[in-house]
Amino acid sequence: MSNYRNILVAVDFSDASNTVVQRAIDIAQRNNTQLTLLHVVEYMPPMDIAYEPVPTIAWIDEEALIKRAKSSLEKFCTEHKLVNEKQVVLLGAPKLEICQYARDKHCDLIILGSHGRHGIQLLLGSTANGVLHDMPCDVLAVKLN
Ligand code: AMP
Repeated sequence: MSNYRNILVAVDFSDASNTVVQRAIDIAQRNNTQLTLLHVVEYMPPMDIAYEPVPTIAWIDEEALIKRAKSSLEKFCTEHKLVNEKQVVLLGAPKLEICQYARDKHCDLIILGSHGRHGIQLLLGSTANGVLHDMPCDVLAVKLN
């Protein structure tokens, strides 16, 4: 079996993220490659393509959200001694952004939690399920209790 060369880890900052990232570190070491850690800021401006876009609500500052997410990701990476790993923050719907990024960057493995905030009661949460069905590459859904 050939080694993974381009591994993407989806981090939502839930408690389970620690388990997910530890598994990712282990796999990266075995494959002698680096990780890309991706967090998606889940904020969708209210709009409908059938109408004119509704102006973004003034008090939601996208730049500020992204800035805060970047510093959370930096802190998360420092805590896990991942200072040299690539960190990416995007804005949008997690499943779509994870798949788009993985396609654009030709990732060959995506690692995420079996469930998180969206799928607390489910065997496989909505993000893991969506990514697994959409992507041609390998997807590891780390089983979380
Ligand atoms: P969920 O769909 O909430 O059950 O989440 C399942 C897994 O998808 C999580 O454990 C994360 O690995 C990933 N995930 C969910 N939301 C995000 C997000 N906003 N940014 C990055 N990864 C996410």
